[in-house]
Amino acid sequence: MTKAGWNFDNSYNRLPEIFFTNVEPTPVQSPELIILNEQLATSLGLQANELISDEAVAMFAGNELPEGASPLAQAYAGHQFGHFTKLGDGRAILIGEQITPKGERVDIQLKGPGQTPYSRRGDGRAALGPMLREYIISEAMHALGIPTTRSLAVVSTGEKVYRETILPGAILTRVAASHLRVGTFQYAANWGSVEELKALADYAIQRHYPDIHSAEHRYLSLLKEVIKRQALLISKWQLVGFIHGVMNTDNMTISGETIDYGPCAFMDEYNPETVFSSIDVQGRYAYGNQPPIGGWNLARFAESILPLLHEDQDKAVDIAQEQISKYPDLFKSNWLVGMRAKLGLFNEEKEDQSLIENLLDMMHKNKADFTNTFRALTLNRYEGMEWFETSDFKQWQEKWYARLGRQQESKESSQQLMKRHNPGVIPRNHRVEEALEAAVQGDFEVMKRLLKVLSDPYSYSPEQAAYCTLPTEKNQPYQTFCGT
Ligand code: AMP
Ligand code: MG
Ligand code: MG
Repeated sequence: MTKAGWNFDNSYNRLPEIFFTNVEPTPVQSPELIILNEQLATSLGLQANELISDEAVAMFAGNELPEGASPLAQAYAGHQFGHFTKLGDGRAILIGEQITPKGERVDIQLKGPGQTPYSRRGDGRAALGPMLREYIISEAMHALGIPTTRSLAVVSTGEKVYRETILPGAILTRVAASHLRVGTFQYAANWGSVEELKALADYAIQRHYPDIHSAEHRYLSLLKEVIKRQALLISKWQLVGFIHGVMNTDNMTISGETIDYGPCAFMDEYNPETVFSSIDVQGRYAYGNQPPIGGWNLARFAESILPLLHEDQDKAVDIAQEQISKYPDLFKSNWLVGMRAKLGLFNEEKEDQSLIENLLDMMHKNKADFTNTFRALTLNRYEGMEWFETSDFKQWQEKWYARLGRQQESKESSQQLMKRHNPGVIPRNHRVEEALEAAVQGDFEVMKRLLKVLSDPYSYSPEQAAYCTLPTEKNQPYQTFCGT
């Protein structure tokens, strides 16, 4: 173990060599630490005070490597907006796998460390704004209780990156349970042998689903588990209004963590058709499409492991289809559990689904803010939103009160339940932009204040109120971009 606490044991590079290429980061001119996630560092077994030295910053910049590192770029493939492509880490390098004090294994990856054999025409670099955006939103997601990759640090490089405009360069240190993707399996299925595919599947099981290691049909169990985790993950996105924006199969993990914070954003007004990404012109990855797209991606995963499911490929297809067909119900039951909690309901009644759907329909019709509506219901305070005065809402509210009255739990415990499931604050687009604009100008205080509020979204502290207001320029639709 190093003085800073780096404790690497690198297993990915023991996989068959088709899955990666050893490659070193390209050094940068003059790295400076912009932000360090001290809490995360501590939980990884790192000494936060040792991570602010020049030596540590050089490591976050890829100029030096800690002892035990073995840098590599991963190969993968993926369906991007439905089109299958060979991909790989074009602007990311896995430095190593940290073994935490709890014995967990996590990937330490630099994002933006220069070109790799998978860079195609890209420069392998990243800009400061987007890397801080990933830091803010991924940490907000973690605080919301949603499985996600984490952000350990961002350094500026002192170099420029050339996009539509010239931007300051940066490198993000990303921490993940692993970077195995549906696309990694698609890569194995298309360019590997069955032995290589099997090695990958065994590796995924060992890393994420050790309990099924000795199951009788372990690859079928792997399929079931991946479906289960994604059904849970996507339900959690829906319940807070998170729109991923680029649910390509290379951006769906085997671990069930959210990955790739390029064009994501939280929805303000409730509308299932909401899309923020500038390139998603068809709305393939719109809010309301996320659950079925999850199913589509899982079908691609199932396809890629068909050779492991049965010797007879017709039977393998039947087995895969049977599992995939269970996904919509799995998703829906998770979603219902979450929606009941958002409405303070402990038990189940048959009419709950229509109670929920009626509320959502009204929210849609009235362009109600998703987060603030549930915040208002939680606090039982309705000022500031006109549609709460409508008779439709009043009627719905009567039904909801009656429903609450039919359960044993007190009003207080219902409210506590609601507070645990309705975030009082989310990373509002205009707040994130404001923080990034200041940061790119060299003022990091706006971002630090935002991060602090986002770190405790269920607290209902008075500090939250200022972060609940909606953007004023409503006429300017918010747009996000991939890959800057
Ligand atoms: P993403 O849209 O972030 O999921 O990235 C899709 C693919 O493009 C991945 O294989 C990335 O590694 C690659 N990529 C994105 N930006 C760059 C870049 N600046 N240089 C090289 N490769 C890139
Ligand atoms: Mg990606
Ligand atoms: Mg991306």
